[in-house]
Amino acid sequence: MATASAMPDLDRLRPAGTKRSGKRDLIVNVFLRQEGHLSADDLVEVIKREDQRISRATVYRTLQWMVEAGIARKVDFGEGRFRFEHSYRHPRHFHLICKSCNRSYEFLSSDIEALVEEVGAARGLTARQSVVQIYGSCESCRTGKPPAEEGSTSELLFARDALRIAIATERSGLEFYTRAARITKDPRGKHVFEHLADEEKNHLATLEGRYKRLLEQDPQLESRPTFLFFKGAANGLFARGAEDLRRTGVNDREAYRIGIRCERGSHRFFKRYGERFEDSEGKQIFLEFADEERDHLEMLIREYRALTRRQRKRKAKPARTARTRHAATR
Ligand SMILES: [Zn+2]
Ligand SMILES: [Zn+2]
Repeated sequence: MATASAMPDLDRLRPAGTKRSGKRDLIVNVFLRQEGHLSADDLVEVIKREDQRISRATVYRTLQWMVEAGIARKVDFGEGRFRFEHSYRHPRHFHLICKSCNRSYEFLSSDIEALVEEVGAARGLTARQSVVQIYGSCESCRTGKPPAEEGSTSELLFARDALRIAIATERSGLEFYTRAARITKDPRGKHVFEHLADEEKNHLATLEGRYKRLLEQDPQLESRPTFLFFKGAANGLFARGAEDLRRTGVNDREAYRIGIRCERGSHRFFKRYGERFEDSEGKQIFLEFADEERDHLEMLIREYRALTRRQRKRKAKPARTARTRHAATR
C-alpha cells in the first residue's frame, strides 16, 4: 500500500549535475510502488511490463543510483544475490526469513540495536550498521495456514506501534496522576497532580484520534504482526510508580519524587529511541512525546522545590531550633 509520504521528491534527491531522465523516473516510481524485497531481476520483469524498451542494464544502473541516493537499500538474505527495498522514510529494520518459501518479514528492535552498540563499544568498534536476520521456517510452511500478509508499509506499522507505546504510557501516566492527586494532602500539590492528570487525558485523546486516522489508511492495520519490539517501554515505569503510591505512608514529597522519577525515565526512553530512528512518522511520535514528558518533568521539579520551601517555612515558624534541626537532616 503506497502512502503519499512514500514518494520522495526526485528532483531533490537527484545528484548535482545529473539530468532529468524519463526512464529513470519511471523505474524509480515503479520500484516505489512495489512492497517487500525485490531482486534486480524481479524489478526488470515488472519494468518490462510497463515499458519493453527499457534495458536490463538501465534498470541495474538505476537501482545502483537509487541505493546511492538513499531511495533503496540493498539487503542480502544469503541467496547469492542481493535484494532491494525502499529506504526513503522507511525505517531501518531487521528481517525474519523463511528458508522454505523465501518469504521475509520485517521487525525493529531498539533493544537489539542498543546491545549491538554496547558490544561494539566494549570491543573498540564504532557500530555504523548492524544486520540481524532470523532464519527459520514460517508458520505458513509449518502448518499450511495461509501466510500472514504484512500488506502494509513498514512505516505504517512503525507508526502504529509507536502510537501504541505512547498511548499505553499516557494511560498509565493518567492512572498515576489520578492516584497521586487523591493521596496528596497539600492543596497546591493536589491541584498540580489534577492538572497533570488532565493533560494526560487530553494527550491520550489526541493520540487516540491520530491512531484512528492511521487505521483509515489500512483497514487491517490493527491485526497485522508486531513490528516494533521493546523490552522495557516507559508505561512500565508509570505502572511501577502507581504501585509505589499505593504503599502506606507515602507523603507529598515522596509522591513528587516518584512522579519525577517516572517522567524522567519516560522522557529519556522516548528521546533516546526517537533519535535513533530514521526519519518517519514513528520517529516524530516518539520525539513529540519526549517533549511532552520533559514539560511534565520540569513542572514537577518546580513544584517539588516550591513545596519544599513551603514546608520549610511552616516548620521554621514555631521555633528556631526546629529549623536548625531540619537543616541538619537535609
Ligand atoms: Zn515459509
Ligand atoms: Zn526489509
